[in-house]
Amino acid sequence: EASPQPRSGRSAALRARMEERLLGARFRYLNQQLYSGSSRDAARLFRADPAAFQLYHRGFERQVQRWPERPVQRIVRYLRRRPASLVVADFGCGDCTLATSVRNQVHCFDLVPLTPQVTVCDMAEVPLADESVDVAVFCLSLMATNLQEILGEANRVLKLGGTLMVAEVASRFEDIRAFLKAMAQLGFRTVSKDLSSSYFYLLEFAKTGPARAGTAHGLRLRPCLYKRR
Ligand code: SAH
Repeated sequence: EASPQPRSGRSAALRARMEERLLGARFRYLNQQLYSGSSRDAARLFRADPAAFQLYHRGFERQVQRWPERPVQRIVRYLRRRPASLVVADFGCGDCTLATSVRNQVHCFDLVPLTPQVTVCDMAEVPLADESVDVAVFCLSLMATNLQEILGEANRVLKLGGTLMVAEVASRFEDIRAFLKAMAQLGFRTVSKDLSSSYFYLLEFAKTGPARAGTAHGLRLRPCLYKRR
């Protein structure tokens, strides 16, 4: 094989490519685990292996960089149109892009602190008082299987009439009508839905009251499994 690269350059390039592959494979494996268990399982996973979390985030960044627009930027724009006095809770904040982009007070929750602003906790149990926030945000973070419990927690901390913003991967929704109906049962009226992007849906809800008892059927989301590239 005729190659202009010297031998050592070639093996370095090969090693880099192998590492990249391995990183991709581990990201996909972690991602699959996050989507197939409860939020408590995810908390346990990352507590046991914080390095896995760093790796997950590198993989996540690489994925969303391919998108024409980052969903979190849509939520930033939304908040900038509303009073800066609104208190926000960001469930699964990642690198705190939201908190650093708006003037509002933002409570940042995630499993591992990517920045010092993060309060480490499972989003099913956040350290906030009942009815203490105006806006709750889930931006690509409704990953766990105990969705009803997680959204119930958002309902608990939201003031009556408060806003719930959900940005999720479009292909995860099996039946958007059934999903919105289930949200109504959980005490969330649909205010607006932007389904125009083929990458993600942006849903805005208002809290109408506490969740009604019983299982909210239709709340299911498909796992978001990334393809090998
Ligand atoms: N909202 C950010 C990050 C999205 S990635 C953005 O849009 O850029 C999804 C985030 O949810 C990850 O940081 C992940 O660690 C977090 N997450 C997943 N399950 C969680 C849980 N049970 N409790 C808290 N955070 C969780």
